Amino acid sequence: MDKIGKILNGVDIMIQKPKGTYDLFGENAEKVIYLKKIIEALMDKYNYKYFETPIFETSELFHRGVGETTDIVNKETYDFKDRGDRNLTLRPEGTAGIVRSFIENKLYTLSMPVKAWYFGPMFRYERPQAGRYREFRQFGVEAFGSNDPMMDAEVISIIVNFFKLLGLKGIKVNINSLGDKESRENYRTALLDYFKPYINDLCEDCRNRYEKNPLRILDCKVDSDKDIMKNAPKLTDYLNEESKEHLARVKTYLDSMNIDYVVNPGIVRGLDYYTHTVFEVEANIKGFGSQNVLGAGGRYNHLVENIGGPSVPGVGFAIGIERLMLALEAENINLTEEKNIDVYAFSQGLNDNSYLMNIVNMIRLNGFNVEMDYLNRNMKNNFKKADKLKAKYIIIIGSTEVENNILTVKNNETLEEFKIKKEEIIDFLDSKLGDINEN
Ligand code: AMP
Repeated sequence: MDKIGKILNGVDIMIQKPKGTYDLFGENAEKVIYLKKIIEALMDKYNYKYFETPIFETSELFHRGVGETTDIVNKETYDFKDRGDRNLTLRPEGTAGIVRSFIENKLYTLSMPVKAWYFGPMFRYERPQAGRYREFRQFGVEAFGSNDPMMDAEVISIIVNFFKLLGLKGIKVNINSLGDKESRENYRTALLDYFKPYINDLCEDCRNRYEKNPLRILDCKVDSDKDIMKNAPKLTDYLNEESKEHLARVKTYLDSMNIDYVVNPGIVRGLDYYTHTVFEVEANIKGFGSQNVLGAGGRYNHLVENIGGPSVPGVGFAIGIERLMLALEAENINLTEEKNIDVYAFSQGLNDNSYLMNIVNMIRLNGFNVEMDYLNRNMKNNFKKADKLKAKYIIIIGSTEVENNILTVKNNETLEEFKIKKEEIIDFLDSKLGDINEN
């Protein structure tokens, strides 16, 4: 490993990135930019609007928003005090911040629905492994103001169509219903009765969950293989008529869009705020295990109220960008766009490069991609560099060019050479490259 630290008082200090984080550059950075472009275009199709909320929020927001009994809030948040003694938390997920923003900016006074999308880093103190980081990126959507199952189905269709657009195959959509408040309350009672005789067989976390939120027991990673878990009452059996009807309509709408799904009663999600529809979208990649879940979400009809706003229903999802990139890689789907350099420009034998700077600036402003020589390379090395960049045209500037207000321009493929007047260079490049660049 390269040492990038410095010697301080004779002690070698090596500065490395924090555990569970990574540097985004090169090909992966290109992929993220490309994905974001696809997402932007997709979101326009559905009329969702871009949101950016702070990367840190008051800790209280996540306690009320994500839920006191979730692993995310109990074990995984990055909490800190700022210099003004405020309790702040790096956001572990995107929904709570968007909901806060929706309330604080009184967006509930707008015509409903309000449909938002976001893209950005999230932070969770988890055990890092492939597809699991402490800083990772999510793309997510939130749709406020409609309790209609059409909205649940639209949100699910966005994930499915996004993955289809990327060419991902073998995607499985698992859906489930957690029911409304009444159904959940009935189910909670049933779970308390069921687990009571087994309480000592459960892990310590589950014993706590029993007290605070027994539904979470079903999401336990430690006890998940035990028979008592497999035979536990199923929420589907406790849904009231309204909740059953909601799920049935979501299914009908998914069918109408030809979206395949499986109703999977095991999906309860790691966040407290869900009501009615919850879903997880999985890839099927060998060796991925639970990292196969690329995106997940659901309906949260009481979250806006819980965070201090009016009663407004919502539904949304989040997709992990790193996990998506791993899945794309596993299926050999190449995301990078070839970005060509139109022009490579350099000077020879000049002390003052003002003319070069002026030309390069002008060409860039006119829409061409330009790279130039900053290292005073000799002629041979400049040509080599232009080849390496696959530049289509080369502009060479020497004292004759400056004196006569002209440019020497070379087609880097045919090696044909042109003498072009400075004020005619844009027309020249337009005539040669305009059509190619528009593709
Ligand atoms: P969640 O917010 O927990 O519902 O997660 C939604 C999606 O975010 C998951 O399906 C993953 O793709 C991604 N995700 C969650 N936690 C992590 C993590 N620690 N590292 C990378 N991706 C994650």
